[in-house]
Amino acid sequence: MMDLLIPDKTHDESRQGEALMLKAETAKNNGRKLYIESYGCAMNFSDSEIVASILAESGFETTPDYSIADVIFINTCSIRENAEQRVRNRLKEFTVAKVKNPGLVVGVLGCMAERLKSKFLEEEKLVDVVVGPDAYRDLPNLIDQVDGGQKAVNVLLSREETYADISPVRLNSNGINAFVSIMRGCDNMCSFCVVPFTRGRERSRDPQSIIAECQDLFDKGYREVTLLGQNVDSYKWKSKVEGSESEVISSVSEAETNFANLLEMVALISPDLRVRFSTSHPKDITDDVLYAINKYDNICNYIHLPVQSGNSRILDLMNRTYDREWYINRIDAIRRIIPDCAVSTDVITGFCSETDEEHKETVSMMDYVKYDFAYMFKYSERPGTLAAKRYADDIPEEVKQKRLSEIVAKQQEYSFYRMQARIGKVEKVLIEGFSKKSDKDYCGRSDQNAMVIFPVGEGYKPGEYVNVLIERSTSATLIGRVV
Ligand code: SAM
Ligand code: SF4
Repeated sequence: MMDLLIPDKTHDESRQGEALMLKAETAKNNGRKLYIESYGCAMNFSDSEIVASILAESGFETTPDYSIADVIFINTCSIRENAEQRVRNRLKEFTVAKVKNPGLVVGVLGCMAERLKSKFLEEEKLVDVVVGPDAYRDLPNLIDQVDGGQKAVNVLLSREETYADISPVRLNSNGINAFVSIMRGCDNMCSFCVVPFTRGRERSRDPQSIIAECQDLFDKGYREVTLLGQNVDSYKWKSKVEGSESEVISSVSEAETNFANLLEMVALISPDLRVRFSTSHPKDITDDVLYAINKYDNICNYIHLPVQSGNSRILDLMNRTYDREWYINRIDAIRRIIPDCAVSTDVITGFCSETDEEHKETVSMMDYVKYDFAYMFKYSERPGTLAAKRYADDIPEEVKQKRLSEIVAKQQEYSFYRMQARIGKVEKVLIEGFSKKSDKDYCGRSDQNAMVIFPVGEGYKPGEYVNVLIERSTSATLIGRVV
């Protein structure tokens, strides 16, 4: 499958399969080493930090070398078939390590674990433990069970678990950007999507714990947080507020925090803390959220608003609960309320029964919005989803591919167009580190989430903001100099 990868950190191709490293906590060390690698979306990478934190409490040290590990965990993604295939191929590579060390525990975590449950143990003999995204607190017990000679499975989904009290350890991060999970699960039932089945019901995390985590990150020198959820716009938290109406009668009322309120609360931590978020849902993004983005300079002018298709009949089959006009209305509201806001999207080509004419409406939506970036995928039927049950996956592979290639080419044009439009402008950039290609250049992101490259210089360093005059661009990068 050809998925176009764009410079967005919420699904970073360069991090796929990355191993997590933590500083050794000698006091708690049980002498055993954990190797954990992650696939898929930012939520999985963030979950692996929670897993590592839970196991660090039980005395595990992390290692970046699986051949010397006592426990190997692979945190998996189920979103498309090729994501699952990648995990199965990777598991084969652990066989030699297991032969060398028969006491090695191999565990599969995350969405694929949740989808396949104990079937995983039958299909992949190497695997000892299968753990779904809501059962990570049980990991120390499950490892004990495997040590005792059994296989172990916990795929119970929860209506409450948010891991709010667990501070994720982020020691292989750059110390500048961090992901903060604000909710888990998803209550939408997009017909193509496995997430509601693998991550369970939607639940929001207590705002106070989110603010405390963001404040703590800021105090430790982080300068950017990305608030994460499958549908951040439906974030909702009800808290009881005690008031007293008279000396004898006290009243308890409920105060509700929505996503717009939460954004403001995080933005108020410091004007030097940039706030980003992902993912927004077109049916739920409100004008209040847009006004909050416009009101605070440190809430970045960048919205990831997956369209999936530009055709209303296909959107209906996808059960996205909005149509073409509604989506266009949301785009118009963004343009009206937030001047200079970058917009990116997700598109699926070749969904069940999609005609050429309907595909053209997706192309014309791209012409209308001129997205800054896009993730583009061929439809991949997932077992158990509504689409798999109701509709035939009837678009031939070559047609899906042709449509995908067409929108990929179109997006490249618009990415380049958007980048070119920045030439001559001064962008405020948060320096993240050296550029991938040269240690003579720094890289960082603009407010609109574009990657900016500029020469290293005295007087500024990673973690600081600089103003960069943009002189040229590619379709993915802006190039300039500090002014
Ligand atoms: N919650 C987000 C939303 O609603 O947009 C993102 C969910 S999903 C992790 C990321 C993207 O994967 C989706 O927006 C969709 O474009 C794509 N995707 C999900 N299921 C797919 C499937 N069965 N085939 C192809 N692409 C899929
Ligand atoms: Fe999947 Fe739709 Fe939920 Fe996104 S909103 S996670 S696409 S069901």
